[in-house]
Amino acid sequence: MVTYPEFERRAQEVLSRIRAACAACGRDPASVRLLPVTKTHPVDAALFAHRLGLAAVGENRVQEAAAKRPLAPPDLRWELIGHLQSNKAKLAVATFDRVQSVDRADLAARLGRLAAEAGKVLPVLLQVNAGDDPAKFGCDLADAPALLDAALAQPGLRVEGLMAIAPLSDDPDVARRTFDALRGCRDRLAASSGRALPELSMGMSGDLEAAVAAGSTCLRVGSALFGERPSVA
Ligand SMILES: *Cc1c(COP(=O)(O)O)cnc(C)c1O
Repeated sequence: MVTYPEFERRAQEVLSRIRAACAACGRDPASVRLLPVTKTHPVDAALFAHRLGLAAVGENRVQEAAAKRPLAPPDLRWELIGHLQSNKAKLAVATFDRVQSVDRADLAARLGRLAAEAGKVLPVLLQVNAGDDPAKFGCDLADAPALLDAALAQPGLRVEGLMAIAPLSDDPDVARRTFDALRGCRDRLAASSGRALPELSMGMSGDLEAAVAAGSTCLRVGSALFGERPSVA
């Protein structure tokens, strides 16, 4: 885990990469949000992000976030970016301000019911396997319309857009194609549903430039901010 000054230096570097990527394609940097990914790091990573003025952090495990959240300032928002098992849906609704990883209709129904029972409307993104990667979660591109219908049927959910993870590859074209595919999927869903679906969560430490060029509005960045994650045994 890095020190705060080191984190601050890395954050300035990431922010300048984002500004350069926006300049290269004529986008307003204010249209792209940096979501620091604090998974596997101590709660200090989330405290650093808050101290720098970032509004939210991303975590990929429900229990880990539930343990850290009480130790962080109450105005810091928490987003789930990892796969959600149905049996953790209740804790997820209690823990997160937004769930980016809704990837199947039965999960959408469950989250919607649990949110409604808790008297809230849970913002969500639909995770789409836009890179057609067998190693990744997310619904198939072809199933995205049905997943959107299932989520829109839930008054307890507010569908804000889509999320994707590019397949691991040395070829930068793979990420580019994945991001273009997610954006195309969003454009088709928005046209057919009449919903704007403005949020496109795509791009990480290694591929954020390609994601900005394809229209990302939320970059989920971990290692470029906090260093390499401790390897999980
Ligand atoms: C870990 C993770 C990230 C951050 O990845 P880095 O390469 O460390 O920036 C982004 N998105 C998801 C879904 C992740 O699990």
